[in-house]
Amino acid sequence: MIRIFGIPYTVRADFTYEDITSQGTVTVSDQVIRLAKDIGKEAQETTLLHEILEVVVARLGLKVEHEEIKGIEVALYDTLTANGVSLQPLMDKIDRRE
Ligand SMILES: [Zn+2]
Repeated sequence: MIRIFGIPYTVRADFTYEDITSQGTVTVSDQVIRLAKDIGKEAQETTLLHEILEVVVARLGLKVEHEEIKGIEVALYDTLTANGVSLQPLMDKIDRRE
């Protein structure tokens, strides 16, 4: 479980990329983020960042397209990791039970 704007979101890695041909999904109303379990660590990290940004955009009512979120995701991920920020504490919160 992670908190976004103080609201708890369950994060589960419980499907394969092939299941829904997506690396991740978020249902803001249910507060559930799901990540593909078979895409590797870096892809899971960037996807988790992406889904967090999706929540932020939805919660703030911003008009930002998925492709634009992708750009922000890559820029943010690169900036954080190039400057020694680890996303491991977020990764540790993923529920990996089947
Ligand atoms: Zn998206």
